[in-house]
This record gives sequence, structure tokens and C-alpha cells, in this order.
Amino acid sequence: MVSIPLHPNIISKKGKFCKRSSDRPAKVIGLTGGIASGKSTVGKMLSKQNFPVIDTDKLAREVVEPGKPALKELVKAFGTKILKDDKTLDRHRMLEMILTDAGTRRLVENIIHPYVFKRMDQILQQLAASENNIVIVEVPLLFEAGWQDFFDYIISVVAPESICTKRLAERKKMSIDMASRWMVIQIPQEVKARKSDYVIHNNAGLDELQMQVNHLSRVLRHL
Ligand code: ATP
Repeated sequence: MVSIPLHPNIISKKGKFCKRSSDRPAKVIGLTGGIASGKSTVGKMLSKQNFPVIDTDKLAREVVEPGKPALKELVKAFGTKILKDDKTLDRHRMLEMILTDAGTRRLVENIIHPYVFKRMDQILQQLAASENNIVIVEVPLLFEAGWQDFFDYIISVVAPESICTKRLAERKKMSIDMASRWMVIQIPQEVKARKSDYVIHNNAGLDELQMQVNHLSRVLRHL
């Protein structure tokens, strides 16, 4: 049994509540959705419309850089077999382990998510200090991590599953089988959509997507 150190001021290990700092932008909006559904594309479009966008995928990569405590915790839990020769995290190996065993996935998420949450909260405080009232935070596993109570509003991007699987396989250079295994461990897109305040249907071209984002940004500015 591997013991996980607690982060009492960051996020409940039971996954429900999130303690947040009081100095935060007036509106913090979570951007989530299915894997390869177009979240980052929507995030980039919103960023071009001058909304600050925090990418928690990027934060998740930063918190496991060599020397960072999250990587040390992962090595403690799984051993040095998760490291490459240059001592960086072997992401492909970690992904294989996560896709094969739900317990491993939960343990990895329990280690990484609190660090990501803490970093996100720091950035939100900085943005609040520079008078940003509306901030978008892209969080792929927002509902899976139980962060929904943290956000004032939630946007979900949904796209046909066959398209997402194909895009995922192409982008990550993995088989369709591995991409499908990755897709099914997430909460279904329609469930995420039902739990969200706004839904973007990314089932056509980029022009159609841009039109929906234009409409959404007008709505967000009037919240
Ligand atoms: P991940 O879950 O892996 O982080 P994501 O949800 O952020 O993915 P994107 O990276 O935005 O998804 O999109 C996946 C791929 O699909 C990208 O290569 C993107 O350019 C492409 N894409 C997204 N939407 C469209 C669209 N409407 N038409 C054509 N290509 C698109």
C-alpha cells in the first residue's frame, strides 16, 4: 500500500471540494470536454479574443519536470521504471500503465492533480492582481477530478466520438485501439455537456467553430 501525502489546503482527496483563494478573478470559467474534441482550439480562439486562458495540461507537464515534488512522488509510488534514461518522466509508459489499470490511474491523478490545482490557483491570483475579471481555465478532466465546484461557469466542447478517436490516434501517433481505450476511461461527452452551462458542438469545420466561439465570447462578457 503506497501512502499519499495530503494537501489539506489544496484539494480534497475524496475529490469533492476544492478550497480556493479569496483573491481570484470575478469569473473563473472552466473549459472542458471530450478528449481531442477541440478544447485547445476553442481555448486559442478565446485567447485571441483577449480572454486570459490557463492551460492545465501545460501545468501538468510542468509539475512533473525533473526535481519537482510530483515526479518524486510518482517515482516513490511506481519506481524508477517510469523514468527515461535522462531521468524525465516516460509519458508513454505512464499512459500504458494508466490505461491498463484503473487503480494506477487514480493514484497518478491523486498525486498530480493537487500540484496542478495549486499552480492554477497561484496564476489566478496573479491574474486577479492585474485586474483580469474573466479568466478561462482549460481542464480536460474537470469533472473526473471533481473540480466542478471551483468554477463559476463551465463550457464543454463536444465532437463526434469517431472523429475524436481518429484525431487522437493521429496526433499522439498511437493505434486506434489505444486511442479508443483512452476515450472510454473518461466521463462520456454527453454527461459532461449536461453538467455544463455552455456547450460548443464541434461537429463541422473551423469556421463554424469560430462562429460559436464568437457568440460565446459575447455571452461571457455580459455575465
Ligand atoms: P486533447 O484532449 O488531446 O487535449 P483537445 O480537445 O484540446 O485535445 P484540439 O487539440 O483542440 O483538441 O483538437 C484536436 C485536433 O483536431 C487538432 O489537431 C485540431 O486542429 C483539430 N480540430 C479541432 N477542431 C477542428 C475542426 N472543427 N475542424 C478541423 N480540425 C479540427
